[in-house]
Amino acid sequence: MTETKTTTTELDAVVVGAGFSGLYMLYRLRDVLGMSARVFDAAHDVGGTWYWNRYPGARCDSESYIYCFSFDKDLLQEWEWSGKYPEQPEILAYLNHVADRLDLRRDIQFNTRVISALYNEATRRWDIETDQGDHVTARYFITGIGCLSTGQIPDIKGRDTFKGQWYHTGAWPHEGVDLTGKRVGIIGTGSSAIQAIPVIAKQAGHLYVFQRTPQFTIPARHANVDKAFLKDVKSRYDEIWEKARWSAGGFPVDPVDRSALEVSAEERQAVYEAGWQQGGFNFFFGSFKDVAVDRRANDTASEFIRSKIREIVKDPETAEKLTPTDHPFSSKRALIDTNYFETYNRDNVTLVDIRHSPIQEITETGIRTEDDSYDLDVIIFATGFDAMTGTFFKMDIRGKNGLALKEKWEAGPKTYLGLSSAGFPNMFMITGPGSPSVLSNMPVSIEQHVEFISNFLEYMTEHGIDTAEADAQAETEWVAHVNAIADMTLYPLADSWYLGANIPGKPRVFMPYPGGVGPYRTKCNEVAENGYEGYVLGAAEREPAAV
Ligand code: NAP
Repeated sequence: MTETKTTTTELDAVVVGAGFSGLYMLYRLRDVLGMSARVFDAAHDVGGTWYWNRYPGARCDSESYIYCFSFDKDLLQEWEWSGKYPEQPEILAYLNHVADRLDLRRDIQFNTRVISALYNEATRRWDIETDQGDHVTARYFITGIGCLSTGQIPDIKGRDTFKGQWYHTGAWPHEGVDLTGKRVGIIGTGSSAIQAIPVIAKQAGHLYVFQRTPQFTIPARHANVDKAFLKDVKSRYDEIWEKARWSAGGFPVDPVDRSALEVSAEERQAVYEAGWQQGGFNFFFGSFKDVAVDRRANDTASEFIRSKIREIVKDPETAEKLTPTDHPFSSKRALIDTNYFETYNRDNVTLVDIRHSPIQEITETGIRTEDDSYDLDVIIFATGFDAMTGTFFKMDIRGKNGLALKEKWEAGPKTYLGLSSAGFPNMFMITGPGSPSVLSNMPVSIEQHVEFISNFLEYMTEHGIDTAEADAQAETEWVAHVNAIADMTLYPLADSWYLGANIPGKPRVFMPYPGGVGPYRTKCNEVAENGYEGYVLGAAEREPAAV
């Protein structure tokens, strides 16, 4: 890998992040639009989320055949996934392969963090500085920073006094961690922990799970990829992607039209049982249309899962503690697991209910709760991320009149389509807040955003337009629309990171767009067809725009 250092360089575009988003964006900018572009990434190599999240058991909840790029048809045919769900090392290998295949590395500067991006109104360019001393100016500033890239480690009293080892799941050591025979404490029971717990339990001497909120989770039914299935998929890929692009969640599934409330109890049970046996998100997408939006319908799904927990977990007291009662199923991120509840039947696993006996402090030797103390060799923080906005705020991003993005978004992110923010011309966000992003199969949403941005830049060039800025009114209306849809769902009923509820002091605002990938695509297409309505387009002085 060649690493280049750039000082005071003029580019067409700077992209932050070398994950799925940054890689595809670079390809479009450089090889399709013929622009000069540079990607900066703090990591040592490509991968984004999949570079950092290497904790035991890390894999994706989307099935592998649909968790990849669709723009390269040869690659779709050539790449062979080994598992039904792709594991972290395989996704990382895939992204490395993409970077090599498209010869992207020569325009990616690794080990480099963008520290500031300031819009210069005189030049109508972005002045960008990195922690390596680079100074770059670019016409376009594009973020591909992911939605879950800034880990949050709770500020628990005594945290720094612990004498053992501690890790966050989102910054797992690349050389791995030998947990054999160790006393391990894991704080958190979100997606990361749910995957890690069953794997760590097999290695650790004893595993203590510090649970604040019990979770609804569905068995993934992970297995080796079914070769016949993959062969069939490959013969129908165009149709499969097209279906995914216009679906609610970016998956190639047919929407169900039945209500959980209009079938008999027996039929409902049979539908849920079939979904449970099939595993994965099918339980959610393939059951009933109203589980996510109607509390009574949702109660039937929630109760089904509760009955499964009681069935699987042998100790009734542990089963009770594992049973969620304070939020509806799927109002927090829907989870899928492999042997999660079964793991609590192991003798070397203890569930510690910190909702009822909160952590008081981390000591030199472990964790002390209100009722007990736990001696530990290792503490794992599976405590999530400052989602969707945290990574933006780590950079000093300033638009017109020196307005800081952090200031503008003080009461919650404000964007038009999750792509742009008024006052920040020529800045584009791939899967930014206000877009389907984390409520969808990410590669589908990433491709849609990258293609939208790339088509927009092409349009600007063709029409002699220098600047594109979200219109403030269009932005206000979009934010209101996102909130109105969120209020029609059950999402606001849970304290989730979708609402910023996991970060003390973060405003409670629903951040992703919950209206579905298909309707969102329609909206974006209409915006483009109408000459990028909702944007204020500034013509180059020398060449008036012909729009
Ligand atoms: P998360 O879903 O935010 O879960 C964090 C966990 O830590 C929660 O159980 C939370 O409890 C707990 N926690 C946070 N602060 C705490 C504190 N101060 N004291 C005690 N407990 C605390 O984070 P995550 O599991 O890393 O997942 C984040 C997102 O990444 C997922 O929702 C998903 O979108 C993505 N992800 C995806 C996959 C996949 O595809 N399989 C895997 C991993 C992650 P509360 O619930 O009470 O807040």
